[in-house]
Amino acid sequence: MTDQLQTTATTEIPDPADEHRPSPAPHTVDPTLPGRLAHRVRAGAQAQTFDCLTPFTGGVIAKLPVSTITDVERAYDAARAAQTGWAARSVADRARVLLRYHDLILRHRDELLDLIQLESGKARKHAFEEVLDVAGVCRHYARKAEGYLRPQKHLGAIPVLTQSTELHQPRGVIGVVGPWNYPLSMSITDALPALIAGNAVVLRPDEKASLTALRAVELLDQAGLPQDVLQVVLGPGQTVGEAVLDRADYVMYTGSTTTGRKVAQRAAARLVGASLELGGKNALYVAEDANLKNAAESAVRSCFSSAGQLCISIERLILHERIADEFLEHFLTRVRKMTLGADLSWGVDMGSLISPAQLERVTQHVEDARAKGATVLAGGHPRPELGPYFYEPTVLEGVTSGMDCRMGETFGPVVSVYRVSGDEEAIALANDTNYGLNGSVWTKDTRRGRRIAERIRCGTVNVNEGYIAAWGSNGSPMGGMGESGLGRRHGAEGILKYTETQNISVQRGTPFKIPPGVPEKVWARSMATGMRMMKGIRLP
Ligand code: NAD
Repeated sequence: MTDQLQTTATTEIPDPADEHRPSPAPHTVDPTLPGRLAHRVRAGAQAQTFDCLTPFTGGVIAKLPVSTITDVERAYDAARAAQTGWAARSVADRARVLLRYHDLILRHRDELLDLIQLESGKARKHAFEEVLDVAGVCRHYARKAEGYLRPQKHLGAIPVLTQSTELHQPRGVIGVVGPWNYPLSMSITDALPALIAGNAVVLRPDEKASLTALRAVELLDQAGLPQDVLQVVLGPGQTVGEAVLDRADYVMYTGSTTTGRKVAQRAAARLVGASLELGGKNALYVAEDANLKNAAESAVRSCFSSAGQLCISIERLILHERIADEFLEHFLTRVRKMTLGADLSWGVDMGSLISPAQLERVTQHVEDARAKGATVLAGGHPRPELGPYFYEPTVLEGVTSGMDCRMGETFGPVVSVYRVSGDEEAIALANDTNYGLNGSVWTKDTRRGRRIAERIRCGTVNVNEGYIAAWGSNGSPMGGMGESGLGRRHGAEGILKYTETQNISVQRGTPFKIPPGVPEKVWARSMATGMRMMKGIRLP
């Protein structure tokens, strides 16, 4: 199987469509960039530095400063001071920054794609998903935030006399800790609704995503974000990341379920809210009436985008037994033709894993399954000749409950195939996981697809798509059920979580009291009659 996987050259081939991009030496960044970006980090002049590595070669591409806990404290002080002025601006004013940012992200996409690829090792088309995500989130919240945040009038305790209004006040300073797998998107998109809601943000991107994150922040400055409203600190998650979340008025965390639990406990101890976007073991079900070619094509994207290092990527393929062989023929043909390469041009199907730790995890899951009797239908090997952490897109069959990849998230290019006799069995299998992040259902009958989707216990379920339909629908919230997390990003929930809801109720005329001279019993009877009347005239 290995021999059938295509490879590309390991050196950069210039892309004629990519006119604005200077031609850097392969796998290097502009040497002036790290120094410039370092100024945007809250860190002392004598700060220690860490190496930014590229998974394409394992080599160092830049050095950036490490923040201290004192730097984190200073970041919070500055953010708090700046937040009041930012919150005093109108939502429309804040939205204009996001609209300008939308354009800047699209205009600088080639440079951003280079950085994303260099830091994460992913293929260019997978990096482009991040650009689309950021632009989509910007546009959505720039256009919709005013509506989401608008004060809402409600029926008061005593109709007409009580005027009740619900307000959404910014929480203050939001702490955002991002993961490494989507250096642009996962570093910046959760900050955008927080900012437009009138908060300041202290952002700690992952060390493996820091160059991209800082360039994205620089563009946000250029879009007109006032000074100090968005602070950036860099450093290890267990020290700097934890310090950021420990001081936040609201915690926005993306990462593994194991770390998410610790983050949630610390937030709970401070009685601070938290949104946790965690792991998944996502299933895609192909029913017997599905368009098999479309399903197979989408399954390739959905299993192997960013080399499977995507929280919503598919790790379980559930196939109706009547079409399983035919689907696999389409799917495996496509998987075996995939091109792998450490290339900054378009046209590569899959890039590298990000680190030795990821390679070790993926290898361990595949070897464990193989040793316990699973069959490798495609892939199943590392590809060190392409780069130190490359691993083939891998399809397993015969995975059983004793194998690590049955319940545990691989977070790599490994998918297991299961055969079922019908929808009930498919739903039960899809739900046989502690996670509940993303799901996918394939059938030509979209009503049936919706019915099945409603019974899959996941925050997002895509019908006739693997993950992009739900992810890209920015008006609908996305997030995890079960061990996949708490809270949602996108839509109303994705911005209102960054606000404190406040009820301001104005009492007109007489305050709420028993009128003088009226016996309490009589007053209670008349109030009970009033309540019945309000129900009778269908007041809420
Ligand atoms: P991880 O939990 O080890 O690390 C994630 C991030 O948290 C890293 O930047 C890390 O430095 C930081 N961190 C570690 N300890 C911390 C602490 N005590 N306080 C604050 N920050 C801390 O996860 P990982 O294995 O590196 O990342 C992959 C995981 O992230 C997968 O499980 C994946 O599904 C999940 N993920 C989820 C989403 C989502 O939106 N649901 C998106 C991307 C990744």
